[in-house]
Amino acid sequence: MKKERYERPVILKMNTGLMNKFGKKTDFEAVTHIESVPVKSLLSDYGSPLFVISEKQIRRDVQNAIRIFKTRYPKVQFAWSYKTNYISAVCQIFHQEGSWAEVVSGFEYDKAIENGVPGNKIIFNGPDKSDDQLVLAARNNSLIHIDHYDELYSLIRLSEEHSLKPRVAIRINMDTGIYPKWDRFGFNFENGQAWNAITRIINSANLNLVGLHCHIGTFMLSPSAYAIAARNLCELAWSIKEKYNRNIQYIDLGGGFPSVNTLKGAYLPGSDTVPSIDQFADAITDVILGYGFKQDELPLLILETGRALIDDAGYLLGTVLATKRLSDGRRATILDFGLNSLFTSLWYEHKVSPAQAYGDYTEEMVLYGPLCMNIDIVRESIILPLLEKGNQVVVHKVGAYNMTQWMQFITLRPNVVLIDSENKTHVIRKAETREYIESMEQVPEHLKENPLK
Ligand SMILES: *Cc1c(COP(=O)(O)O)cnc(C)c1O
Repeated sequence: MKKERYERPVILKMNTGLMNKFGKKTDFEAVTHIESVPVKSLLSDYGSPLFVISEKQIRRDVQNAIRIFKTRYPKVQFAWSYKTNYISAVCQIFHQEGSWAEVVSGFEYDKAIENGVPGNKIIFNGPDKSDDQLVLAARNNSLIHIDHYDELYSLIRLSEEHSLKPRVAIRINMDTGIYPKWDRFGFNFENGQAWNAITRIINSANLNLVGLHCHIGTFMLSPSAYAIAARNLCELAWSIKEKYNRNIQYIDLGGGFPSVNTLKGAYLPGSDTVPSIDQFADAITDVILGYGFKQDELPLLILETGRALIDDAGYLLGTVLATKRLSDGRRATILDFGLNSLFTSLWYEHKVSPAQAYGDYTEEMVLYGPLCMNIDIVRESIILPLLEKGNQVVVHKVGAYNMTQWMQFITLRPNVVLIDSENKTHVIRKAETREYIESMEQVPEHLKENPLK
């Protein structure tokens, strides 16, 4: 007879909030392989914790998104949002699939150039572009998306000083029915600021207004917000044509489509509530196609989708360090990764699976990270089998924003491994070492002596 595992008896307080009308959610099964590579061997070969990215899944997701838009609209271009995940191998997969680069800093701009993206296929967004970066981007014929008047005036001055004819668009913010409004980026539509900026650009000798841009938010759950955004941009493009007889070459609707993750505090899981990309594509393309542009003057539709194209492909693998009982009787499981690696656990109730067979018992528990910091919580409440020290876990859909927003705090950042389309593994970002971190430090001469020695 199989020997049952002994657990010291506890009295549990009933917590409200765990159940909903569907009962307790037990959303787990053992995940022992990723793309047919055993989790156990990934962790023993590359260490724990470990980020794993599936190349196949990225390609599937981006090809699917392109297909969805191209079957609805004749001229579509995707641009990879670097800040969502700028590990070079990941960017190259997107570029191989035809995506341009969308960058929001000089650092990201240089990275795109280093990745071999031609200058005229880089979209330069964001409020922070230095004079040098603006001149470089203009020389490279990149698409400069102007964020504010100070940038507009700088660019007018620089293009005169350096005899440049930069291709520009303006970023436009607007009320799409989503609150709080994202009005800190770009020029406002409703109060006339956007039209004013357009007029100034058209009256400038050197700037060439080629596009209109917006990025209305992130993890947007409402396709109709995109319909409003598309309509407003079409209206501006139409007015530019009427008033100045200029054709706007492209309309860029930014990113913001949600991935199938569950937001914290959501009543239903993301898989039940997140609209599909088809719904967003319908909302956007219906408006542009119906607006009345002549067939040969239809603007190129640019999309800068980030998280919806990469979250799926990313996994975080880790190991249980310990289990304990909290003073109120709740079970706590301490993992070897926390908020430092998994920044998105601030927003998402990430799905966590055991990576090995488990027993009959399940229990509500809190998942902590390894940091000596009270905020280091991976899941405040999750029902899982009783994990033990040394057990392994898989966190799903973590490809977006974690590998750029992770913190080097208390511990070092782990390896990132790509599983390619033939299921071969490659380290695409090495685990950090103490030497690597300290190579950036300098100790002044008078602090080199340590009297405790
Ligand atoms: C971050 C960002 C994106 C990507 O956003 P997602 O929500 O990840 O799709 C696209 N465009 C701009 C300008 C951004 O800042």
